[in-house]
Amino acid sequence: MFENLSDRLERSFKILKGEGKITEINVAETLKDVRRALLDADVNYKVAKSFTDTVKQKALGMNVLTAVKPSQLMVKIVHDELAELMGGKAAELKIEGRAGAPAIILMSGLQGSGKTTFSGKLAKMLKERNHKKPLLVACDVYRPAAIEQLKVVGETVGVPVYSEPDNKNVVEIANHAIQEAKSKANDVVIIDTAGRLAVDEEMMQEIETLKKAVNPNETLFVVDSMTGQDAVNTAKEFNDRLDFDGVILTKLDGDTRGGAALSIRTVVTKPIKFVGTGEKMEAIDVFYPERMADRILGMGDIVSLVERAQQQFDEEEAKKLEKKIRKNKFDFDDFMGQIQQIKKMGNIKDLAAMIPGVGKQIKDLDIDDNAFKGIEAIINSMTPKERANPDIINPSRRRRIAAGSGTKLDDVNRLMKQFEQTRKMMKMVTGLNSSKMAQMAAA
Ligand code: GDP
Repeated sequence: MFENLSDRLERSFKILKGEGKITEINVAETLKDVRRALLDADVNYKVAKSFTDTVKQKALGMNVLTAVKPSQLMVKIVHDELAELMGGKAAELKIEGRAGAPAIILMSGLQGSGKTTFSGKLAKMLKERNHKKPLLVACDVYRPAAIEQLKVVGETVGVPVYSEPDNKNVVEIANHAIQEAKSKANDVVIIDTAGRLAVDEEMMQEIETLKKAVNPNETLFVVDSMTGQDAVNTAKEFNDRLDFDGVILTKLDGDTRGGAALSIRTVVTKPIKFVGTGEKMEAIDVFYPERMADRILGMGDIVSLVERAQQQFDEEEAKKLEKKIRKNKFDFDDFMGQIQQIKKMGNIKDLAAMIPGVGKQIKDLDIDDNAFKGIEAIINSMTPKERANPDIINPSRRRRIAAGSGTKLDDVNRLMKQFEQTRKMMKMVTGLNSSKMAQMAAA
């Protein structure tokens, strides 16, 4: 899914690799590439343009964290904007009927888009995950084969199908079906309708009338994602007439380029609710914009890495620390602070494993999650005065600290030595990111 787009985006970010900071020039260059990648993935031109404009603004306005590389930051911004483009949060499906009546879900879409298949998938899902008792209704009165197809689907998922092969009045069929549902205690009615190969007035009229007559809780528009921009145009035409509630994108298992998924939401301002990822009845997924953005970028791990760093890294604190280091005033409180900051970022091995390429290399390496435990115990056994003035920690104080922390004198001596080295090294390279140094020192 979206492989080409993923590759192209990844290449765009390479422009920023090795760049020390985000500038007008390198951002413009990167985004030119990103826009081309989106257009090649059949994303609507206007959508692609406004997307890159937003990303540019965000990238230039962002306070660049010293803990994060420009290329990583860009991945994160693009990721968040992709998710936003597709709707931000996952949309809900209204499956609770009104006062004693079943919930009604009306399917719309062109012939071959996957309406019948999706009706079956949805029925199965509601039955299994939501413990509902759905009824499928065949309202495609033009093709006898359509009724048969829905019956096969119903049988496969163990859901009853209501049909009236000799009746051509879809409103009547739907109303009868709703009565049937009430009498048989079916709490969700899924109405499969007729599609045409292209949008035509008669079909639109019919489904519009049907919608008015049954007043559905959800009107869903089903569309084949392989059709790219056509999918978006069809969505717009259906939405103008039906004002539907959500989109179902089918055939995402094919080599679809992604244009439909990325443009539909902006063009019709309706969320994508589910995706179809195969012909089998299990191949249905709730659409999560965030997860889709992860998949498109194939770099979800970098995104979490940047998020955690953004949460934990305090630019102000970093500056204060840098001053202290320059004056050789770095003490054990600062040392401890740095350790806490690193620890808050999570299990270090997990964190490192998030960096693409690193994961595999460190898989077998033994990084102890409790690497800091001994160090923390020793520092905790120092008095506040000792922590602020490491130079006063003489041999007798060291013996007391060892006893207090349950460690050996050797351990305390080693830490003191490491601390001194760290201090010297920090003074030498004050320009370097301080948390990175604490990391080095603790290693
Ligand atoms: P309808 O005319 O809108 O009812 O469309 P159908 O449900 O008959 O689907 C048309 C074709 O697309 C059938 O061959 C389905 O098996 C296939 N199809 C539907 N959904 C998916 C999907 O998510 N992935 C794939 N690969 N095929 C699908």
